[in-house]
Amino acid sequence: MNLSTAAIRHGLFVPDTCRRVRQTATEAFYRGGMVQRVRYGYRKLSQEEADSGEFGPRGLRMAKRPECTPVILEMRRRLMETKRPQAVADWLNAEGVEQGPYARRRLWSAAAVRDLLCDPVLHGTRRFRKTVYRRVFGTGKHRRERNAEPITKLFPELAHMSRQEQEQMLRAVGWSMDGPSGTRATTSPRRGVPKKRSLWPGQAATCGGPMHVIGNYLRCARSLAREGRRCWNRVQAPVTVTRQRAVAWLLNECERQPELRETLVSAAIAEQQQGRNRSLQSRERVRREIHDLEKQAANLARAIRHGGELQALVCQLQRVEDKLDEYRGRLETWDRDGRNSDETLSNCEMNLHLRETNRDAFQFVV
Ligand SMILES: [Zn+2]
Repeated sequence: MNLSTAAIRHGLFVPDTCRRVRQTATEAFYRGGMVQRVRYGYRKLSQEEADSGEFGPRGLRMAKRPECTPVILEMRRRLMETKRPQAVADWLNAEGVEQGPYARRRLWSAAAVRDLLCDPVLHGTRRFRKTVYRRVFGTGKHRRERNAEPITKLFPELAHMSRQEQEQMLRAVGWSMDGPSGTRATTSPRRGVPKKRSLWPGQAATCGGPMHVIGNYLRCARSLAREGRRCWNRVQAPVTVTRQRAVAWLLNECERQPELRETLVSAAIAEQQQGRNRSLQSRERVRREIHDLEKQAANLARAIRHGGELQALVCQLQRVEDKLDEYRGRLETWDRDGRNSDETLSNCEMNLHLRETNRDAFQFVV
């Protein structure tokens, strides 16, 4: 993360201080500090451990876990052989290999495999300032952008393989150290929407697990790789047919019994409203959290300006900034989802309350 911008954001307009903060962070990185989240195959070291020099170069605040090297090399071999990151993830999950300490999910996914194998840290290169913040004039806010030229330093002690070995592996599947090349050919409207939010509340008959929409098909969520394929039922039902049939049946029933229709509509709207209230509450909580963090960051910035113990303060500021980033991202996602569900709600209300028995009333957002 770009600390100098973090400082500006919190009112450190004094260019001198900005430079000092930036410089301190850069120097700390070159000495082996500024370790944030470590990946699988690594662990963080305490200041004492790093200073002892027992686990690698003195001052480096992270170390390789040598017991992971055979696993990483096997990942490399399997990726080159199958060209399928999902196959590597399946193998890791079958072997019960745990993800890195900061992973959000328990099980490996193709994306997690790719992120790890593309990281230059595997051959010992650490990167710093991978993201830069550009000021958006007019709003005074900052936009996150990927830094094309982060600061790097090679620590051979961190290598699980050589640079050549890593490059050879990535070439074999068309990846590079900066991640997979090229942009997506198509952007799905479901991109960024969790699968569990499919509007089809189906249940798999065999195991009782939820059905997820996978492209144009419904499939038992527990049969997916990311759930460890706990269910044997791999049947994929075409989602359009399922929806058409269910909607046709429901509309027929509604025509036969007007009370059913009323009940259905009010139940649907109540459900929507409840979900909305819940999300409003969590949003409010996150907003308060952001407010607190901003105050903390401003205090830290002030302390830095008054010349407090710089390195400790810079580290603290970075932690606060990381959390702020995470919360702001969460808020953005919610705001986006919230708008969508508001639209769905008003569509439902309009169509159903006006008693237009019309198949369009049940337009599913895919
Ligand atoms: Zn199932």
